[in-house]
Amino acid sequence: MDECIFCKIVKGEIPCTKLYENEQVLSFLDIMPASKGHALVIPKNHYATLLDLPHKELKSVTKAIQKVAAATMVALPGVQGFNILQSNHKVAGQVVPHVHFHVIPRHENDKLNFAWEQGKAEIEELKKYAELVKGKIK
Ligand code: AMP
Ligand code: ZN
Repeated sequence: MDECIFCKIVKGEIPCTKLYENEQVLSFLDIMPASKGHALVIPKNHYATLLDLPHKELKSVTKAIQKVAAATMVALPGVQGFNILQSNHKVAGQVVPHVHFHVIPRHENDKLNFAWEQGKAEIEELKKYAELVKGKIK
């Protein structure tokens, strides 16, 4: 993917503030952070979404997320928690089409809000959706 900004970061064509890397994974700070220390974790290979990411690389990415989040919790003053955010496709808010995970440090009263209005569902409706999805799980 010649035009992919994250591929360019992986290749060193665009600078990044690197936190961690290994053979398969790179983590760096988000340039427009939701909070101080907001990090991204990506596979070095280009995959568009979570569904394209092979299991082996997903495992490496997941381990790296845990490492970065653990370091963030102890290293940054006042951090009391973190969110992992991962968006797939434009409709879900994915802007960069190279699969990535956000690690967003949280502070008491930080005004970040990932909450949604809680919906209502009858048990019959839940069962219907469960049947639809269960049948497609491979
Ligand atoms: P998303 O909306 O989930 O696709 O998130 C993409 C993220 O990439 C945004 O939070 C951007 O701030 C971040 N981003 C875009 N370009 C860069 C860059 N060159 N270096 C670091 N972060 C970037
Ligand atoms: Zn890419």
